[in-house]
Amino acid sequence: MRMLYKLIIPSIMMILSLSACKNAAKPAPEAKDDFNYFVEQFEDIRVLRYKLPAFESLSLQQKKYIFYLSQATIAGRDILWDQNFKYNLLIRKTIEAIIDSYSGDKESAEYKEFLTYAKRVFFANGIHHHYSSDKFKPGFPESFFASLIKGSDPKKLPVAEGQTVDQLISFLSPVIFDEKLYARKIEQKAGADMVAESAVNFYEGVTQKEVENFYAGKVVSDDPRPISLGLNSKVEKVNGKVTEEVYRSGGKYGAAIDNIIIWLEKAKEVAETEAQKKELGILIEYYKTGDLKKWDEYNVAWAKNSDQMVDYINGFIENYEDPLGMKATWEAIVDYTDIEASKRTKIITSNAQWFEDNSPVQPQYKKEKVTGVAAKVINIAMLGGDSYPPSPLGINLPNADWIRKDVGSKSVTLANITNAYDIASQGNGFLEEFAADQEEVDRIKKYGTIADALHTDLHECVGHASGKLAEGTDPNALKNYASPLEEARADLFALYYAMDKKMLELGLLPNEDAGKALYDGYLRNGLLTQIVRIKPGKEIEQAHMRCRSAIAHWAYEKGKADNVVAFIKRDGKTCVKINDYKKLQTLFGELLKEIQRVKSEGDFEAGKNIIEDFGVKVDPALHTEILERYAKLNLAPYTGFVNPVLTPVYSNGEITDVIVEYVNDYLGQMMNYGKNYSFLPAIN
Ligand code: ZN
Repeated sequence: MRMLYKLIIPSIMMILSLSACKNAAKPAPEAKDDFNYFVEQFEDIRVLRYKLPAFESLSLQQKKYIFYLSQATIAGRDILWDQNFKYNLLIRKTIEAIIDSYSGDKESAEYKEFLTYAKRVFFANGIHHHYSSDKFKPGFPESFFASLIKGSDPKKLPVAEGQTVDQLISFLSPVIFDEKLYARKIEQKAGADMVAESAVNFYEGVTQKEVENFYAGKVVSDDPRPISLGLNSKVEKVNGKVTEEVYRSGGKYGAAIDNIIIWLEKAKEVAETEAQKKELGILIEYYKTGDLKKWDEYNVAWAKNSDQMVDYINGFIENYEDPLGMKATWEAIVDYTDIEASKRTKIITSNAQWFEDNSPVQPQYKKEKVTGVAAKVINIAMLGGDSYPPSPLGINLPNADWIRKDVGSKSVTLANITNAYDIASQGNGFLEEFAADQEEVDRIKKYGTIADALHTDLHECVGHASGKLAEGTDPNALKNYASPLEEARADLFALYYAMDKKMLELGLLPNEDAGKALYDGYLRNGLLTQIVRIKPGKEIEQAHMRCRSAIAHWAYEKGKADNVVAFIKRDGKTCVKINDYKKLQTLFGELLKEIQRVKSEGDFEAGKNIIEDFGVKVDPALHTEILERYAKLNLAPYTGFVNPVLTPVYSNGEITDVIVEYVNDYLGQMMNYGKNYSFLPAIN
């Protein structure tokens, strides 16, 4: 399960990566630590890079381990391209040949349009938009595409044996330019044959019905440990018979898988623990055989191994791209524990009982004995496959239900990726546009990231874990309001304590201003800016958004008489100003107490009223104003990353160190990967 920003972080700044924009090439904002996270922006995409904090202080063995795993992370790249669409690799290799060898005018407007198209295709790992699933429309004419190919080195073009360059042109032109052909990567509209009408390459020459029948015959009923049926294969018709071609060494994608195995074998030699060596051995076995029982065995081992510093994911994992939700795309990352941030979660977890005992909740609804949830904070060392360039912000795996139930799962937040988002978003004009005054802007710039991180930690480690139900209360009593109310309960727990002196005592926040920064951001988001994600005339539906809106509007209304929070106008623009932070904390405490009571007693009506009265509606005039102001900022709704380059230093044939280089050339990285990490033919 991937956690995206919209799911995990009720963020101060994360919200900016939404809504649409065009071609706003922004100057790189100066980050507060002088590291420039911004790489470039085109169409609806913003590209950043990320830092590897404290990488230098890892042991040589850990660095080697990370290096080998990072190679296994990039080695499978071609697989995802082919999975996304059967001609993606042919198109990518053609684009690479053009960029590499086109001899015509590279300053022309048409060539620049071609480069933008190429960048979009690289970002999406194919010719369909990574989020909307629509095929890209090139901003240059078909005739120009032909002249690009003709002006390139024919030896570099992916021309098949016995084929001419002209044949390549006439084959590719409709694939790229015919708007009706392969129009959607995933088609799930009602009445569609989701298999036949989706361009995604998990099926060939079969209908949805045929696929469903094929797998219906394979389900073993009453299996308490069912395999993830159909996870790692393509279904096609051979001689009129529906068959499955499995991704494995010697099978489908074998050449790329063999390269992944080479690096996993090396990684296995330097893994930190015996348990992890064993785990890697099972993964290699799985890649060799494609056996889904092995995949489960591997995941059990992986889920149990959580003590080591370095970890990774590598395999066919998420099924979001299959219209039938069965087949998984190839994905990989390498990561290592963020010791500083994990110290923070440890402090919180070890004080869980204090937080419980001192909360404003009624004594009968507090837990006598509360254990915080240990969530690990990690830093990414390499992104690959379906996690690159767009990356998740949190990951919770494995996916198999029975493993989650019997063995458990690992839940991690990606600190350096989140940090890059946050800092790169400073200076894009969003904060200046919506903050009430300069003081607020300065406070957020100084403390926004730590305040945000602390909020997430308190929410996850103690917020959800706190409180108990009254005896006899139906745990499902709150029905459709359970989810926004539960998020509100965890958020309020965090908000209440963020302004408590305990934060300073425990060293979790540097001073009270950091707590204020959290309140500023939360109220601004809940009362103003989160509605940039809502279409005009619509109401708020998503649970986290309802939660934030309910908390902010409830506190605003209840504090109205004392002017605790106010809507003000700055240069005619609506802003939110907090006048009394201590009173606001008291209000958060009151609402926490009430929502805990609602949950503990299963008071459906009261819970419903909190959400419906404060969390759902959008003021139409304010909405119009916010949308207009937001549109003027030209922010890119989607973000992705370039990877650092990890280079081993050798002495007498032995690796003695691994050096991190932070490159900032997006297209250069794509060309490099195409040249050095491409193991599959143009057509598979
Ligand atoms: Zn939550």
